Amino acid sequence: MSAVIDINITQINKTRVNDQSLENIAFGHIFTDHMLVANFANGEWQNIEIKPYQPLTLEPSLAALHYGQAIFEGVKAYKHPDGEVYISRPYDNLERFNISAKRMQMPTIPEGIFIDGMKALLELDKSWVPAYKDHSLYIRPFMFATDPVLGVKPSETYSFIIILSPTGPYYSEPMRIYVEEKYTRAVTGGVGFSKNAGNYGASMYPTSKARELGYDQVLWTDAFEHKYLQEVGMMNVFFIINNIAVTPSLEEGTILAGITRDSALQLLQDMGYEVAERKISIDELIDSHKAGLVSEVFGTGTAATISLIKELRYKDYVMHFDTNQWTVAPALKKSLDAIRTGHSADLHNWMVKI
Ligand SMILES: *Cc1c(COP(=O)(O)O)cnc(C)c1O
Repeated sequence: MSAVIDINITQINKTRVNDQSLENIAFGHIFTDHMLVANFANGEWQNIEIKPYQPLTLEPSLAALHYGQAIFEGVKAYKHPDGEVYISRPYDNLERFNISAKRMQMPTIPEGIFIDGMKALLELDKSWVPAYKDHSLYIRPFMFATDPVLGVKPSETYSFIIILSPTGPYYSEPMRIYVEEKYTRAVTGGVGFSKNAGNYGASMYPTSKARELGYDQVLWTDAFEHKYLQEVGMMNVFFIINNIAVTPSLEEGTILAGITRDSALQLLQDMGYEVAERKISIDELIDSHKAGLVSEVFGTGTAATISLIKELRYKDYVMHFDTNQWTVAPALKKSLDAIRTGHSADLHNWMVKI
């Protein structure tokens, strides 16, 4: 349903792109010249416009601020050696955005706004896509409820916005991870599979508790027994056990269906590894570790791509890994980066030219 949608474009008088270097900037601090805004009212999306990046004026009674109907996506675009800008798997983000929207009782967004609007915005701001190694333009589509009403009910009006932020390499040291046994990120029947703002809000307290103990993130476990492994921080998690890449399966709805997770599963198979999407418990992981079978543990997500884990603690049992010896995670990262930056063939048609 790629209906051509009218977008009203108001361009900035003079680009701000030359005001600062685009090299090595920290994630999520700098925003480009323009943003896309669409409003949902009377049952339809309307007033689709691209305009200079600017603050919003909001009612204090804005529904999203009180009752949390707010969802988002994270997408990346890259400048290829041919000088063109390509977006990585945006149709998958669109599909997931609409899954999140349905769960949060929000309207879905058509391809004509999400994809075509994203492309039009990128076309206007393409000089902001950094051409340096390991750099990209982070794309943040989001939607929130805008009824100025305190009654608890699904909002009748919403805003959909896309903003763009140039980003440098995500230097992340291998992480120390605390296996969470008290707090819960997601529960069957809940909203773990949707990318809604509240999931992040709820993760901050347990994560800061883990930080106080010297860990970077938590490895979430299931809500009932705190036994089955779910995700690491806000990333999907992979374990290389006996040369098989194991990642928790999605069917319980407690795990966000990461697009990097999906790319990793595909590329690992392309590289000749066996993969398994299944339940995995902390007991199984510890037994495998004791048997010397756990060789690598890593997280996957759009922001960091692949994050290595050098230590995992469960109660008094600590697993240490020498990440310098690893082969799978580094090869996976290299392969994924090469496709996204246009340095190797895009065999799965992931890259979409703007
Ligand atoms: C966004 C997100 C991920 C990673 O998804 P990608 O599509 O790979 O960026 C994983 N877990 C959670 C909870 C997330 O919000």
